[in-house]
Amino acid sequence: MKNLTPVLLLTPGPTPIHPRSVDAMSWPMRSHMDADVFAYNDNIVKDLHTLYQTGGKGFTSLLSGTGSLGMEAGFANLLEVGDKVLIVSNGVFGDRKIEMAERLGAEVIAVRFPASSPIDVTKVKVVAEKHQPKLIAMVHGETSTGVMNPVPEVGEIAKSLGCMFSVDAVTTVGMLEFDMQAWNVDYAYTGSQKCLSAPPGLAPVAFSSRAIESVKNRKTPVSTWYSDALGMIDYWEPSEKGRKYHHTVPVQLHWATGEAIRAALEEGIPNRTQRVKTVGFAALETLKTVGFSAFIPEEYRLATVLALKLPEGMDDAKVRHQLRFDYDISVTGGLGETAGKIWRLGLMGENARPRHYIKLMEALADIMNAPHLPRLFEEVCVGERY
Ligand SMILES: *Cc1c(COP(=O)(O)O)cnc(C)c1O
Repeated sequence: MKNLTPVLLLTPGPTPIHPRSVDAMSWPMRSHMDADVFAYNDNIVKDLHTLYQTGGKGFTSLLSGTGSLGMEAGFANLLEVGDKVLIVSNGVFGDRKIEMAERLGAEVIAVRFPASSPIDVTKVKVVAEKHQPKLIAMVHGETSTGVMNPVPEVGEIAKSLGCMFSVDAVTTVGMLEFDMQAWNVDYAYTGSQKCLSAPPGLAPVAFSSRAIESVKNRKTPVSTWYSDALGMIDYWEPSEKGRKYHHTVPVQLHWATGEAIRAALEEGIPNRTQRVKTVGFAALETLKTVGFSAFIPEEYRLATVLALKLPEGMDDAKVRHQLRFDYDISVTGGLGETAGKIWRLGLMGENARPRHYIKLMEALADIMNAPHLPRLFEEVCVGERY
């Protein structure tokens, strides 16, 4: 397309693509059955074990699809028709999980909390003890509202009941601590375009050994052929008979996502977390001075998606339109109930950089006639020793 100017994505996904990932997309093409692709995939598998902290056990790979495929594949593999699954929800993505599991014919016990409210772990425990589900599923960071949910605590409930535990790590893994082993997680997934800052199109996933055993012991085949973990294992893991074709993996996206995962691990998750906190803190402190305020209290605020209440009288659609078309900056509004009332600023992967957020401050300085914003932002960032 002609005249496609760069736009700064300060959205909660997709995020600006990491330079290493951009470069990798133009690496030479190979067949999906080529030795070079298998060698590269082997490194991705290793890196995913590190990223998810699996302890090297179970199965990690990339699914050819976005984060939502990761969500669906988990249910498709771990549940059979009529199996009980307890799904905790306090937002759009929790509700998407409920809908998916229902469509797959599972018996869904939905434990819903109002959007933007925290999850009451005691209530989850009571319901789980009563129903004894095969699987408990939840979202770690709810992107629709910017709420961080108590995964380790719910993992304890799953452990005490001996049931499996599946976690949506889309807004957390790669940026914030995520420990499958410590938290008793049996299945986790993300999307390549969120905290890893690769292009959209792949879902990096991890199954525990117990999850793979449960797939092997199913009474019925996995209901979606494409997402069958056993089919994926035939492609991803070497066996005596070699590797088997399952589907044509998007090789360029494997290069790009593999490099993004490498870059994340080389930077180190604690450093990335520090970067998110610094930029998020500086953005909030700066924007408070022109009437924005935090939508979620600090105790359960998600660090990677900063939800902000808009200043009194601000025209949400108009300002976001100005940002997009006069300043080439993309910012996301609310979803559902919060539409027109909040913004959701992404602090995942490459968008959590002071040099990007300073651009937003410069644009808002113009639009809101508040020239102090860029300098204040910089001062707070430096004060935070970035
Ligand atoms: C973005 C997102 C998804 C869905 O990912 P897609 O790549 O859009 O399919 C799922 N869960 C959460 C928490 C998300 O933020």
